[in-house]
Amino acid sequence: MRSHLLNDTTAERYRRSVTEGIERVAAKLATTDRPFTGITVDTLAPRIARIDLDKPLRDTTAVLDELEDVYLRDAVYFHHPRYLAHLNCPVVIPAVVGEAVLSAVNSSLDTWDQSAGGTLIERKLIDWTNERLGLGPAADGVFTSGGSQSNLQALLLAREEAKSDSHAKLRIFASEAGHFSVKKSAKLLGLGQDSVVTVPVGHDKRMQTVALAHELERCRRDGLVPMAVVATAGTTDFGSIDPLPEIAELCEQFGAWLHVDAAYGCGLLASLKNRHRIDGIERADSVTVDYHKSFFQPVSSSAVLVRDAATLRHATYHAEYLNPQRMVQERIPNQVDKSLQTTRRFDALKLWMTLRVMGADGVGRLFDEVCDLAEEGWRLLAADPRYDVVVAPSLSTLVFRYIPAAVTDPAEIDRANLYARKALFASGDAVVAGTKVGGRHFLKFTLLNPETTTDDISAVLDLIAGHAEQYLGESLDRAS
Ligand SMILES: *Cc1c(COP(=O)(O)O)cnc(C)c1O
Repeated sequence: MRSHLLNDTTAERYRRSVTEGIERVAAKLATTDRPFTGITVDTLAPRIARIDLDKPLRDTTAVLDELEDVYLRDAVYFHHPRYLAHLNCPVVIPAVVGEAVLSAVNSSLDTWDQSAGGTLIERKLIDWTNERLGLGPAADGVFTSGGSQSNLQALLLAREEAKSDSHAKLRIFASEAGHFSVKKSAKLLGLGQDSVVTVPVGHDKRMQTVALAHELERCRRDGLVPMAVVATAGTTDFGSIDPLPEIAELCEQFGAWLHVDAAYGCGLLASLKNRHRIDGIERADSVTVDYHKSFFQPVSSSAVLVRDAATLRHATYHAEYLNPQRMVQERIPNQVDKSLQTTRRFDALKLWMTLRVMGADGVGRLFDEVCDLAEEGWRLLAADPRYDVVVAPSLSTLVFRYIPAAVTDPAEIDRANLYARKALFASGDAVVAGTKVGGRHFLKFTLLNPETTTDDISAVLDLIAGHAEQYLGESLDRAS
């Protein structure tokens, strides 16, 4: 069994085994003609249930053969140009090389004595990101598992910085298009059910600052404490960017912590063309970025950044066995002092490899391409009488629904759109997402693949219309 341990005597086995795994994936990439096979849970579940984990196959090749059957063949492939659903990106090769290196070396970024250069590389990437954000000389931050954790940590710091004698008085303001992790964070932070005040958005799906000002005033009048405003730079559904300068102004006026959730919009930090869309972000007290969304990085790769490094102390705990207080005086850089996690992946290496191979401009160009594609998709949808489209894109998302001229019952239109999404998924020809707008069911393209073309978008719109029409035809038959 020792031959399975990665060490000096097994280097050759390691090379062969990993290469074998990589070859399976490479073959898949070369031959995948649809983003999904359309397999159902009922078909797949018994195949996995039948495998006896107490009877190992012993041989990597045999296990990879089995994996073909239970995973690889029917996985959802984000690299396929007709995967248009969630905020998942195709990944860049330098990052995947980084992933292979980091998992084999297996550094843990909690302490210097488990990572050495890894710690310094992560710190340099945090500084690089802060430079791009413009957070100033005292800025700092740390890599996290994802945007949800970044938001949680930012709000923890905001809670601790808030001047209040009681958690019950604290209020967080976020737009109705903000991410649900804000509410979840409030719950985890022990804030009350009413702690998150939802601010309405305009037609453009951006937070209405007049309404925010109104809510902040009401908060003050009621003797409550505005703990934080969460501005979203790239809402999950619409890619809309809240008016950051105006919100920053209000935060200053009311003494509220400004958190900018740029989980999606952070790709603009690398853009030469569209960076101005997030101007104002430099006034944030904290920022969430998800490199695994718009920097084309494999999951997970995310960070929380803060204007004032000192605020990270609210996440610090000194454990004698790991990061005792004296190490601070000895200036030993232990990232666990800044993190909610203890053992932590060296995810930063993926971004490092990416920037060193492609350069930031290279990443930014890819993100610009998908933003341009969304513009073209918007024009297609706006000109197509079969569709209603919600808002012109600020990033790379389009929300729309099929609206047949002959059908007036909104519930029936809802059902046709829901059916079309399901049928499309079952066919595997393309994958699209869905959401609700004004209580009605809509469909959603999140465009993060520069390989997707306007022809793909047109073709998928035809497929959706075909499925919706089929549903409505059958529905008519049922009625008659
Ligand atoms: C995706 C997303 C999150 C959550 O990030 P995860 O990495 O999925 O945890 C938070 N905020 C916004 C705006 C997002 O789009």
